[in-house]
Amino acid sequence: MSQYEGVQQSVDKEKPSTSDSPRDVVVVGGGPAGLSAALVLGRQLRTVTLVDSSQYRNAPATESHMYLGSDGASPQDIRERGREELAALPTVTVHTSEILGVTSENGLFVFRCGDGTEISSRAVVLATGHRDLPSNIRGVAQRFGRSIVHCPFCHGYETRGRSIAVLADNPAVAAQPAMQALYLRTHYSDDVALCTGGTEIPEALREVLSDHAIAILDAPISSVTGESGALTIEFSDAPSLSREAIFYVPRYEARSTLATDLGCENDGPYTLVDHCQRTSVAGVYAAGDIAKIRGADVPLSFISQAVAAGQAAALWCDQDLFIAENHLQSVLTPSK
Ligand SMILES: Cc1cc2nc3c(=O)[nH]c(=O)nc-3n(C[C@H](O)[C@H](O)[C@H](O)COP(=O)(O)OP(=O)(O)OC[C@H]3O[C@@H](n4cnc5c(N)ncnc54)[C@H](O)[C@@H]3O)c2cc1C
Repeated sequence: MSQYEGVQQSVDKEKPSTSDSPRDVVVVGGGPAGLSAALVLGRQLRTVTLVDSSQYRNAPATESHMYLGSDGASPQDIRERGREELAALPTVTVHTSEILGVTSENGLFVFRCGDGTEISSRAVVLATGHRDLPSNIRGVAQRFGRSIVHCPFCHGYETRGRSIAVLADNPAVAAQPAMQALYLRTHYSDDVALCTGGTEIPEALREVLSDHAIAILDAPISSVTGESGALTIEFSDAPSLSREAIFYVPRYEARSTLATDLGCENDGPYTLVDHCQRTSVAGVYAAGDIAKIRGADVPLSFISQAVAAGQAAALWCDQDLFIAENHLQSVLTPSK
């Protein structure tokens, strides 16, 4: 099937002029990926509705890092600046609601929102993100993103020189916390402990950790109390451990089922895309944390990556619409 077919059927439609008319594109999700996609599409004078249920993955964090020009800014500030830029574009509407369902008929996607609104469009950019799953360890969920952080690249610098613990509670990824402990020890601190909670760590890796003077505590973890700078890890049958910083990597899942509802090919929590952010369903693009390029490694979950992918999704979505509108498919796809 040609990549242009999904948008082909609506090629002769006039540009819609009312909000009840089909939009060119619905962008689902108002995190960095969705905001970036809506900005690019709006600037191409595409009519866009961005629908957002405002449950951002990094909502608990007070600071975000590594986003050029905004290092240290709060995630909320970054989103607000993005929203302000969208507000200047008359072709972009932002709608706060959750999309509960979608159908696809006659070249149009029809979205049903939680507030009863129905919105239709010729194409869709899914930027619905991931949801981190709560830990089994008491006290971790409410501290996650603030006093307990997940990523040395995002937040390691702020923990340099501090006493650090890495918590493990997922046997499926036993090596990951061990590797993280080693990474933190080699980059940021002489005082790193790995609290395995009994999770099995390969013997060879244990030896490497010991060689780097990383304490390995295998007792079951019962809770975390305190806040950043003065945290305490309680064990069920061992003395408690005081730490200034704690790292913990949660499991995660796709926040929305819209991609699978639309029939997009997926790989666990990821919607598979090509290098132009096209999913396996024509007219549907995905960007940000949910999108993974087919055959690639697990993608990087960073703001800059989400912004870049949202931009790419928007650009190729616009180009596919443009090609369909101008009947260029046969010119660009030579017949065999
Ligand atoms: C605690 C924490 C701290 C982080 N710190 C950093 C950092 O310092 N630097 C960095 O680069 N990265 C950081 N990250 C990673 C970064 O937050 C993500 O990579 C980025 O937010 C992904 O953006 P996104 O647009 O894909 O998803 P999100 O920002 O999660 O946005 C997805 C949006 O889609 C909406 N949505 C989902 N389903 C629907 C639906 N059905 N209808 C309507 N809306 C829907 C959600 O409500 C949400 O608003 C951090 C992550 C976490 C968890």
